[in-house]
Amino acid sequence: MKRMILCECGEFIDGCTFKDYIPTSSNPSTPTIGHQICGLLFNFIDDKLPKRYSSRVELKGIAFKFAEKNDMDQTTIGDYLLEVDRLKSLGNLCDMDILIAAYKTIQEKNSDDACANGEIVHGA
Ligand SMILES: [Zn+2]
Repeated sequence: MKRMILCECGEFIDGCTFKDYIPTSSNPSTPTIGHQICGLLFNFIDDKLPKRYSSRVELKGIAFKFAEKNDMDQTTIGDYLLEVDRLKSLGNLCDMDILIAAYKTIQEKNSDDACANGEIVHGA
């Protein structure tokens, strides 16, 4: 999976960044990046990455972008969006947690399909 950051504005930052400096607990002038589109600066030091809680409809759009960026095919995207919707209906997860959890579920499902002979190794 590509390393992606979902900005508070609902876009994946995906290279659209600028460099800046922010005060963090480690240094009053810590180099960081911001999102070109909305201008939000990220704080990677203090674990304050943006957490976004979208509505179901918004999340579906974001999940679709996520699926496209990860080169899912049409069938997988359909399954993925269903899984995202299911996780969203559980309630309290932020968008990125849902997107990643659903992505893992889909990957496991696909590898189960590929290993239908029962030789799946469930490693730690
Ligand atoms: Zn943004």
